Amino acid sequence: MPEHVIGIDLGTTNSVVATVQGGQPTVIKNRTGSNLTPSVVAISRSGKRLVGQIAKRQAITNPTETVYASKRLIGRKYSSLQVQQAIKVLPYNIVPGEHDDVRVRMAGRDYALPEIAAMVLAELKADAEAYFGKPVNKAVITVPAYFNDGQRQATKDAGKIAGLEVLRILNEPTAAALAYGFGRNVTGKVAVFDLGGGTFDVTVLEVGNDVYEVLATGGDTYLGGEDFDQRIIEWMVLNFAKEHGIDLRKDRMALQRLKDAAEKAKIELSGVKETQINLPFISTPPGGGAALHLQAVLTRQKLEELTADLCDRTLKICEEVLSEAKIRPQDLKEVILVGGMTRMPKVVEGVRDYFKKEPCKGVHPDEVVALGAAVQANTLVADQGEVLLLDVTPQSLGVAIAGGYSRRLIPRNTTVPTSVSEVFNTSKDNQTTVKIMVLQGESELAHENELLGEFILTGLREAPRGEVEIDVTFEINAEGILSVSARDRETGQRQSITVTASGGLTEDELRRIMDEQRDYLLEARMSDELKQKRGELENVLREIGELFPRVKAITSGSEFGSDVLVKAEKGLADARRALEKNDLSEIAASADQMGRTLNLFRGVIQRIGG
Ligand code: ADP
Ligand code: MG
Repeated sequence: MPEHVIGIDLGTTNSVVATVQGGQPTVIKNRTGSNLTPSVVAISRSGKRLVGQIAKRQAITNPTETVYASKRLIGRKYSSLQVQQAIKVLPYNIVPGEHDDVRVRMAGRDYALPEIAAMVLAELKADAEAYFGKPVNKAVITVPAYFNDGQRQATKDAGKIAGLEVLRILNEPTAAALAYGFGRNVTGKVAVFDLGGGTFDVTVLEVGNDVYEVLATGGDTYLGGEDFDQRIIEWMVLNFAKEHGIDLRKDRMALQRLKDAAEKAKIELSGVKETQINLPFISTPPGGGAALHLQAVLTRQKLEELTADLCDRTLKICEEVLSEAKIRPQDLKEVILVGGMTRMPKVVEGVRDYFKKEPCKGVHPDEVVALGAAVQANTLVADQGEVLLLDVTPQSLGVAIAGGYSRRLIPRNTTVPTSVSEVFNTSKDNQTTVKIMVLQGESELAHENELLGEFILTGLREAPRGEVEIDVTFEINAEGILSVSARDRETGQRQSITVTASGGLTEDELRRIMDEQRDYLLEARMSDELKQKRGELENVLREIGELFPRVKAITSGSEFGSDVLVKAEKGLADARRALEKNDLSEIAASADQMGRTLNLFRGVIQRIGG
């Protein structure tokens, strides 16, 4: 029996774990019975670590201690534009670490981003172990094609912290193509169109004879499902303001409920033409008076109107990437849809019109990346005819040169592994040292690019400027990890770095965190999952029971009141049944539902009863 290995899609919004079982790539369900685990972690009021659905559920009432979309921060510098931008929209506490890395403050402790990602990975690892009934220690983890070296390294660190040997960091689109090509004899160019929760990217690959070569990739890291949700929220807020003169955006709790309702409506409209949005007791008039409810009908057509420019933007990016790679839409054999948002009919329609073909069916858009990662993990350990994956560098790489400019050594979209050398000269008279600053990005100006690392080559011969020659070599391995070396051509003296320092953690920190994590894992395994969930549900039920008479009194006579109470009563009956059956997934689902009811009750009391 070969050892069990897994593939993990560590997504911005959702994560998925898969394996190859009986020759078939298969998704492993999590403990709540779902294929998707929200990439959300939180520390509960009682100090417990929560991961996945259970963490997502309590986000409404615990926004500052609930971390989501942390993939936007991993492996980045605190001072970077991207992080500063993310801080504006994320409600949790993001603080600088010691080396300009990013930390998240939860329950009074600072967590490095790889630690946060590791919590999600550890959860998926545990789900896989429950599935196999055996420990799982090896995984392939996917990252977006545009991830730079620091982000890849940080993801690898996260794997280590979670107790996984990361066999390979694999690009998401390559994984999708692998899953698509699995078991078929595919040759030709394919495009992977990935619209997820927060980001969009499109990648063109050449597939043939077990070789997957990325030809071009591009995208927008601020274009995804959340933008679609936002448009619905704006629409609801505007209508409500028109009708009642109240701006709901000023109320945090109301805003969270609007966000939930918007996503729900959006998802429903992928299946039906029209949906009802009901948010009872969303607000009260400023001067007092009866509570206000939000009631709206959203049609698919209206949604498409509200989001038309977002769909157009995805296609515009496709156009740019294809034209850069000198490929026409009709040259593509297949278009593979990836990401939950590609379930929206209008998105599919846009893809169909632009690429002039029916996009690939038969692969689950939100599972295909994990399935491909599992295929790759299996290939790497099974020692059978390895598949050759040729990725490209997502951004240009170069060195800083005199005058504050950047000299490009490896242009973006170059196939890796690759190696490039170039000869440089000293820029000053009698210069005996030279600083090599490794840059990533497209700008001609050094300071506008990201500094990946730097080192100094010393002991150069004193000579007039331009006389001493230095070889600079950039080498990128199959995982996209960069090494840079510089050599004095006269003396042969050499200095080099592997550009891995920017994962954000030093070796010592990583070791300490790994030790702590091991302690945590041991603890987690001993704790009784079922008992814990039962306790949670019982607490929620008790609180609902306490609030029930008040809510009943407050809402009596209102049109929504009876509706709310009837639903709550049905929920209570379901919960009691689940507790009686002692079934973990039913109890978890019920806790989920009753948590919402509790929030609604609290809202009602806060707004009207308080
Ligand atoms: P990520 O790659 O960012 O982790 P996913 O691929 O899981 O994200 O996509 C999540 C996004 O897909 C969310 O915005 C979610 O609302 C959206 N989504 C999921 N199912 C549907 C659906 N049936 N119709 C429209 N959007 C959907
Ligand atoms: Mg994804």
